[in-house]
Amino acid sequence: MGRVIAIDGPSGAGKSTVAKLLAGMLGFNYLDTGALYRAAALGLRRKGITPEDTDERLSEALGGISVVFSGGRVFLDGEDVSEEIRTPEAGHYSSVFSARMPVRDFLLPVQRDAAQNNDLVAEGRDMSTVVFPDAWKKFYMDANIEERAKRRHLQLQQGGVSVSMENAREDVIGRDKRDTSRDIAPLRVAESAVFIDSSDMPLEEVINKMLGVVRSETARRGAGG
Ligand code: C5P
Repeated sequence: MGRVIAIDGPSGAGKSTVAKLLAGMLGFNYLDTGALYRAAALGLRRKGITPEDTDERLSEALGGISVVFSGGRVFLDGEDVSEEIRTPEAGHYSSVFSARMPVRDFLLPVQRDAAQNNDLVAEGRDMSTVVFPDAWKKFYMDANIEERAKRRHLQLQQGGVSVSMENAREDVIGRDKRDTSRDIAPLRVAESAVFIDSSDMPLEEVINKMLGVVRSETARRGAGG
């Protein structure tokens, strides 16, 4: 098992950008677990599964699905679905299906395997609480709702999806509600996590703060043994 830097937080907090950069700078692999949840949801939808279906039906359908994250891309049954999972519809279904136990059980080994033979920066909602409770470093990134709605809006526009600012805001609020209120693996700040509010912090400052945390540990180790 490699060293894991776990980054949790709500949508639009800037986790993906930061996690990718940090992984590149440290020479760690990068894992976007939201992409796994989106791909699993897409796979379920392709099999005609709806949120009203039972856990048994979900488990059965997931048994015939393969989800892989590799080189920054996500594959569903061998097909690169990295673009398709970014639609508002896929986002909605990932948020709804991610509250279901069969889906979380299905993706748990996929996520843990990613740290099996290498160091990893993993970002999501339950990295530091459930998937990697013994992570080497834990961060929780947040930003105020206006800033996150703005980022979400921009992200959708860049992906060629036109939604109003109000819709982007509602989407973020709805997903926050589902992520924090679900019974299984709800989004919360892990006890030993370093909390970062990126609302008014330039990206460079966020990265420097995280590198400071990572490097202080390395320096202490090197100095004291
Ligand atoms: O991060 P992203 O918005 O791509 O994630 C899509 C959805 O997957 C989120 O709305 C969240 O409900 C779910 N998710 C999760 N646990 C994770 C990562 C994502 O429940 N570790």
